Amino acid sequence: MSTTNNKSFDKPLKGILKLKCKIIVKTGLHIGGSKESIEIGGIDNIVIKLPYYFINNEEYKDVPYIPGSSLKGKIRSLLEWVEKPANNNNPIAIEKNGKPCDCGECNICRLFGSHQSKSSVEPVRLRFDDFYPNQKTIEMWENVLEGMYTELKTENTIDRIKSSATPRHIERVIAGSIFEGYITIRIYDGDTYENTILILDKGIKMLEDDYLGGNGSRGYGRVDLKIIKTIWKPVGNYKDQEIQYEEIKEKVFNTKASA
Ligand SMILES: [Zn+2]
Repeated sequence: MSTTNNKSFDKPLKGILKLKCKIIVKTGLHIGGSKESIEIGGIDNIVIKLPYYFINNEEYKDVPYIPGSSLKGKIRSLLEWVEKPANNNNPIAIEKNGKPCDCGECNICRLFGSHQSKSSVEPVRLRFDDFYPNQKTIEMWENVLEGMYTELKTENTIDRIKSSATPRHIERVIAGSIFEGYITIRIYDGDTYENTILILDKGIKMLEDDYLGGNGSRGYGRVDLKIIKTIWKPVGNYKDQEIQYEEIKEKVFNTKASA
């Protein structure tokens, strides 16, 4: 019997795949903080920061980071230009008129979640952690930024008639900074390498050709995202098993749920 309404999800979990990643900032990065304020002569745009951050028992204050939601949202929005919703031929960005997909069935909804969660019967596969600066990066900031962890970039808007310039100040994380965090993937029976890993791969490549954060059209936010460690935790023993990224197809997808 086929019903379109009361669908339920019945595929067993095979395991959890954890990708330890680093984001290498190649040009000044601005991911806006909550206190976006417009002050004349002040900082127009501050970056998001952790009030406290601990690394190797050292305490740091007001440390910039990259929220997982920013990374997830950007990769999803780029992929919606190439992936299609269920039963449609146009890419999601066109089919949904710029809104996130809510079909509940396509690869984007499977991986990132349906925008209207009520339409989805699938558990969300991808989770993006917040990315934090590594110790070397904090040391680098302390060495070059004179007590701050960011730079202030001054930009001018030119009056087209008077040719006078109105400066504004934008806070940025400097090029050369490295942030680390995890992308975690839940793998269920029936998930494939093609509809999971290859799509995430494509999203990461699109991110590297685009930008993270604000002002990308003015050169901000170019990043590289590199996977530096791959850990597979099959449900059988749920033990960390370090594998090579290139082995994912064979070791994660070519095995049965019970293996
Ligand atoms: Zn969808």
